[in-house]
Amino acid sequence: MFVAADDTDSMRGNCTTFLATEIIHELVFSKGLDLIGFPRLVRLNPAIPWKTRGNGSLVMCFGKGTGTKRFIGQIKGKDVFSFENKTDWEPDRYMILEAIKPLVQRYHDPTDSDPGIVISEIRPSYDFYRYGVSRVADRDVIEKEIERIGALKYEIGCGRGIIGCTCGMAWIPRDRTFELLSYRPEERWGTERIFDRDSVVEADSLLKSTFNSYEERTGKIAIFPGTPCPVMYGFRGDDPDELIRGHDIIKTEPQDRWLVFETNQGTDDHIITEYTQEEFIPNSSYSVEGIVESVNRIRGGHTFLVLDTKFGKLTCAAYEPSREFRHVLDWLTKGDRIVVLGELRESPRSLNIEKIHVLETVDEYQKVSNPVCTECGRAMTSVGKGKGYRCKRCGTKSELPVLKKVPRWIVPGWYEPPVSARRHLSKPLKRMGEVQPVEFVNCRNQ
Ligand code: ATP
Repeated sequence: MFVAADDTDSMRGNCTTFLATEIIHELVFSKGLDLIGFPRLVRLNPAIPWKTRGNGSLVMCFGKGTGTKRFIGQIKGKDVFSFENKTDWEPDRYMILEAIKPLVQRYHDPTDSDPGIVISEIRPSYDFYRYGVSRVADRDVIEKEIERIGALKYEIGCGRGIIGCTCGMAWIPRDRTFELLSYRPEERWGTERIFDRDSVVEADSLLKSTFNSYEERTGKIAIFPGTPCPVMYGFRGDDPDELIRGHDIIKTEPQDRWLVFETNQGTDDHIITEYTQEEFIPNSSYSVEGIVESVNRIRGGHTFLVLDTKFGKLTCAAYEPSREFRHVLDWLTKGDRIVVLGELRESPRSLNIEKIHVLETVDEYQKVSNPVCTECGRAMTSVGKGKGYRCKRCGTKSELPVLKKVPRWIVPGWYEPPVSARRHLSKPLKRMGEVQPVEFVNCRNQ
C-alpha cells in the first residue's frame, strides 16, 4: 500500500520528511507493518510559484516484507529496516488513514499549509510523475487519476498537497540518488545547529559517491539547512551504504532520528528537452541551444545574456547568489554556441540558468594598430567608422586594422553554480562524469 504526504510545512517550521518518519514509526512499530523499499523524497517542479522550499513530496510503501532486509535508519532509538519485496497481502487503508491523521494534524503548519495524504494500492500512471516534475499540474486532472486508481485521500485546508502526493507516487526511478536526513530533538528546533565541520569535510573526501556536501574552493559546508525546521542535516549520494558510513563520520549535537530516503534529486528530471514553440512556456525548465548575441553584466549583481535560439531571442540570467558562475556568462562572447538549462520565468520573461554547456567558442581579436601601406610602409588612416583604412599618400586601401588574437577565458565544456546555489533536482557535474574545465577564483570585484 502506497502512502504519500505533501504540503504540511511552511517557512516557519515543520517538514514533510519529518512527518514521514513519524508515519513510519507509527505504522511499523505500533501497527506491525513492514516498510517496502526506501521511503521516497520526490522533488516536483521547482518552478511552482506556491512551493514552500524544495517542492518535495513523500512516498512510502507498507505491507508484509519479503526478500532482502536492509538497515536504513533509526527512529526514537529503534532500528528501521526496509524490505526488497512484499507479499500480495495489503493492509487496510482506512486503518492506515486513521493511524496517520493525528500525526498530520500535529505536524502541519495550521496557518500556511494545505496538507494532502493519498493512500493507494495502485500506483498512478508514470505520466503523472513527468507532468508533476516538469509542468504546472491541473488539480482536476489529478482528482480524476485519484478516482481512476481508487485511492483514498485526506485533505486539510485547500488540500493542494494531493497534487504532490499523486505525482510523487507515480515516480518509477530511471535515475535516482539517496539522501540521509537526520533530525534534531524537538526541544532544539529553531536553535543554532552545533556540528564539527571537519568531520563533514572528511566524509565528503572519503565517500566518493556523495555530492553537494562541501565546496572545497570556498570551504563552505552545504548539508545543514538555514531554516528552523527539524532537519539536522541532509547528506546526499549515489550509494545508501556510503551515506550510512557518512552518518558515523559526521559529528553533531545529539540527534533524535535519521533515515535514508531514495530520491530524484540530482537527476535533471525537471528539464524538458523536447518541445515545440507553443510548449515553451513559463514555470517549467528547459534545455535551450543557441548562439550568444550579447552579454550584459550589471555592476556587482546579475549577468544577462541574449541568446539567439530557434524560437527567436531569449534573455538568460545568472543571479548574484550563483556567485562566480556568473563569470561563465561574463566571458562568453557574440558567436559562441552554448546550451543553457534552467527555469523559464514569466516576468520579466527570462531563463534562469542552472547549468551551461559551452559547445563552441569563436576566436576573439583585438586591434593592435592601423594597417601599414604595402607601397610606402606608412600607417594608413581610418576612412570612418566601419569604412576601412586608406593610405593618404598612395591611395591603397585595407578593410581591417592589424589584429591580435586574444586568449579566451572560457573553453568548451560544462559549467555549474557552486553547491549552495544548486537546485535539488539539478544533476551535479560530478554525477554526469564531467569536470568544469575552468575553475573560477572569486575575483568578481566590479
Ligand atoms: P517542502 O519541500 O519543505 O515539503 P515544499 O517546497 O514541498 O515544501 P509545499 O508546501 O509542499 O512546498 O508546497 C508545494 C505545493 O505545490 C503542494 O501543495 C503540492 O501539491 C503542489 N505541487 C507540487 N507540484 C506541483 C505541480 N507540478 N503543479 C501544481 N502543483 C504542484
